Amino acid sequence: MDFRADNFYAAWRERSRAVLALHEAGPMPPEKLLQAVWQHQRVHRGGLKTLDGKPVRVLHPGFASVEGGPDFRGAVLQFGEAAPVAGDVEIDLQPGGWRAHGHDQNPAFKNVILHVIWNGSPGARSKAQGPETVLALENVLDAPIGELARALENESGLPEALRGKCCAPLRELAPEQLAGLLRSAAKVRFQNKAAAILARAKHCGWEQALWENLFRALGYKHNVWPMLGVAETKSRWAPGADSAFALQARMLGVSGLLPVELTRSQKNTDTFLRRAWDCWWRDRDALADCTLPRTVWKFHGLRPANHPQRRLALAAHWLAAGNLAGKIEGWIAAEIPDQALLDSLQQIFQVKQDEFWSWHWTFQSASMTKPQPLLGEARITDLAVNVVLPWLWTRANEGGSDRIRREVERRFLAWPSAEDNSVLKLARQRLLGAANARSLKGAAQQQGLMQIVRDFCEHSNAVCADCQFPELVRGCVGGEFKPEPVRVKLEPGKSKSERVLNDIISAVV
Ligand code: SF4
Repeated sequence: MDFRADNFYAAWRERSRAVLALHEAGPMPPEKLLQAVWQHQRVHRGGLKTLDGKPVRVLHPGFASVEGGPDFRGAVLQFGEAAPVAGDVEIDLQPGGWRAHGHDQNPAFKNVILHVIWNGSPGARSKAQGPETVLALENVLDAPIGELARALENESGLPEALRGKCCAPLRELAPEQLAGLLRSAAKVRFQNKAAAILARAKHCGWEQALWENLFRALGYKHNVWPMLGVAETKSRWAPGADSAFALQARMLGVSGLLPVELTRSQKNTDTFLRRAWDCWWRDRDALADCTLPRTVWKFHGLRPANHPQRRLALAAHWLAAGNLAGKIEGWIAAEIPDQALLDSLQQIFQVKQDEFWSWHWTFQSASMTKPQPLLGEARITDLAVNVVLPWLWTRANEGGSDRIRREVERRFLAWPSAEDNSVLKLARQRLLGAANARSLKGAAQQQGLMQIVRDFCEHSNAVCADCQFPELVRGCVGGEFKPEPVRVKLEPGKSKSERVLNDIISAVV
């Protein structure tokens, strides 16, 4: 078969569709294509210069951002003879995009070290008032833009060349070795969580430590601290509130999240707010010293289902139902097959219905036509692996109950996978070279991978500088995990990594 001969399939492909969308969008290529060009570095890498003539060497293009902010995070670049610098890269079609898209006002863009554009003249930057370093791609591509559009259209995920230095040695591990490594890293993560719960329980008691950690988990990553702040003053605002609604009113008041204005357009919402204020005005003065300012909450980039007002309502139902700690203890004592773990815990945490929040995402949103659960399956798994199981484990450990401790460990290792997220997605591709979410089996393997990211990737950079992990993994390839062969000499200041590694290793052997 002559690869140069006409290919009917290529012709079908050309004729049919969306492949053209990338390169037929007019005089400018789509921004998405420029992002793909940057990610795959389809440029003359040896001859890149900023608009003001400074040579740029791309040591790493950074990782595509999936959570807003600059297009690429953590790039490593060298400008002229200066030392390499790490920072973000933003891609726009033209220099004016910097201001037109509001990047100049957005603090998320303050670490941008290179503005990549399609074309522009040297004077264009100062007019746009963007970063000093601007690189135009139009004349440095390694192939015509139409050809690149075809080549890159199906490329998703991290290019092979951008994988971590540990990816190759990890691939050489036998499947059971890799599973053992992830499991052991997961144990470290689990024990760290349990230790934090224990430390808090020593000050405030087991039940309060449980509540504080549940509230933290309900804060997701944006509102962990204010949620914890509300939980820490529970002994002030919870007594005397005799229903889920009364608890909600107090929590909304104490959190600073009870709106002071009616919507005047949503009747149900205004009825709810009037009732809540009827409760809250009586308590407001007495609880003034533990009331949070609204400004401590973050709403930017929050999915409506995760809005803290809705999460507080969920916690109000848990509190009103009573005896949550006892129900959790009953759950761990009961015999539950692995496939029923999620459902059985969901029965404890799911709220049947809330008269307002089952029908509204936020105070601003219109009433939904179908009720929505206050807690999805994915959050049950988060609560299980981050709070419920570590809390039970540390209690059993402190109380000397080996049977319960072993059962908690068994359930943790058997727990089904959590919802995929951007950290896991990048880590899977970077460390394991696997785009498929199913390449990680179960929540414990996911937790293990996240722990490796925390212990190694977060102490290194996009080019894996000074990372000990590949060497440690290489020491295990083709053999057993043993402490001696995989010990490495660490520079001063690396003792934390060493401790973590030894924890992992000793848990495996
Ligand atoms: S920093 Fe280390 S652990 Fe992270 S991808 Fe690079 S080599 Fe792997």
